Amino acid sequence: MSYQGVLHRYGNLLDLPAHTQTVSLLEGNTPLIPMPRLGKELGCELFIKFEGLNPTGSFKDRGMTAAISEAVGRGAETVICASTGNTAASAAAYAARAGLRAIVLIPEGKVAVGKLAGAIAYGAEVIQVQGSFDDALSLVVEITQKTPIALVNSINPFRIEGQKTAAFEICDVFDGAPDWLCLPVGNAGNITSYWAGFKQYQKGLPQILGVQAAGAAPLVLGHPVEKPETVATAIRIGRPARGEQALEAAQQSNGKIIAVSDEEILSAQRILAAEGVWVEPASAAGIAGLIAEAGKGAGIEAKGKRVVVVCTGHGMKDPSIVTDSFASPKVIPAAYDDLISVIGK
Ligand SMILES: *Cc1c(COP(=O)(O)O)cnc(C)c1O
Repeated sequence: MSYQGVLHRYGNLLDLPAHTQTVSLLEGNTPLIPMPRLGKELGCELFIKFEGLNPTGSFKDRGMTAAISEAVGRGAETVICASTGNTAASAAAYAARAGLRAIVLIPEGKVAVGKLAGAIAYGAEVIQVQGSFDDALSLVVEITQKTPIALVNSINPFRIEGQKTAAFEICDVFDGAPDWLCLPVGNAGNITSYWAGFKQYQKGLPQILGVQAAGAAPLVLGHPVEKPETVATAIRIGRPARGEQALEAAQQSNGKIIAVSDEEILSAQRILAAEGVWVEPASAAGIAGLIAEAGKGAGIEAKGKRVVVVCTGHGMKDPSIVTDSFASPKVIPAAYDDLISVIGK
C-alpha cells in the first residue's frame, strides 16, 4: 500500500487522544543518505537523516501533523505559534490543509526568507514581534491560556509525539539504533522527541550529541541567554522550553551537548553540500559538532561507529546565507567564443 504519513504508519505508538482526526501531507519517510566521503574522513559510517525533504522542508511537519490533527478533532478553529520560521511554515501548511486559521509570531527581521515566504504562501497571518523568539513564545502561551486558540509550538505534547516517528524510522531502516545520533538543539523539542522515541521503540539506544550555536548556547553555559545571536536562525533561542529534557537525554544516553561557532556551522554546511546535500545553517550544526568532536582527543568516540546526523531543514529555506557570501555569477555575451574563454577548455 502507498505511504500515507507518520500518523498512519506509527499512530498506534503515539499517545494521541481518541478525538484526533488525521490531517496529513504525507510527511516523514525521509531518506537516510550515506555520506561515504565525509564518513571516511571522520572514520565512521555516516548517514544524514535528511528531514529537509518533508513537505514544508523541515522536520517540524512530523509534529505538526499530530498537533493539527488533535486540534481539529477537538474543534479548534484557530492555531497559533511562535517561530524562528520553520514551525510557522509547517503550522501554516497543516492549518491550510485542515481549513483552520493560522497565526504565526516571528522575531522581527530574523526569519530566513524561504520560511517567511512559505508561511505567507500557505495563508498564515504573520506577525513580527519586536523581540526574540522567546518573547514571541511568551505571548503565544499567554493568549492560548486566555482564549480558545490552540497552541502548536513544541510545548504542545502532541508535537513531541509526532516527532518521535523519526527515531522509529531510523530503527526500522537499520533494524536497531545507530551508535551516535547528532542533531541541532534550539527549543529542544526534537532532541526530547528522539530520545523518547528510541526509549519507547526498544530497538537499542544511541548516544546523543546535541549541538547548539555558540551565540545561543544556554544548555552549554548553564543559564539562559538574553540576546541569542547566530546565523543559524532556527536555533537562535536563549531559553529552550524543553532544556531540562534535553540535558536529561544527553546525560541518560551517555552523550553530551556542545556549542559550535557560526564559522564551524557554515563550514559544515559547505562540506555537506560538497557531497550533494544542501541544508540550512541550523541543520549543519549536527555535522559541525561531530567534526569538532571527532577531531579532538577528549571528544566523542565515533571511530568505526554508525553515526546518524539529523539535518533538520532544507538549504532552500535560507538561500541568502549562500548568495550573500558570493559574488554574482559572471555575465557573458551569448557567443560560443565567450563561453570558451570563460570556462577554459
Ligand atoms: C526547529 C528547528 C531546529 C531546532 O529544533 P528544536 O526542537 O527547537 O530543538 C533545528 N533546525 C531546524 C531547521 C529547525 O527548524
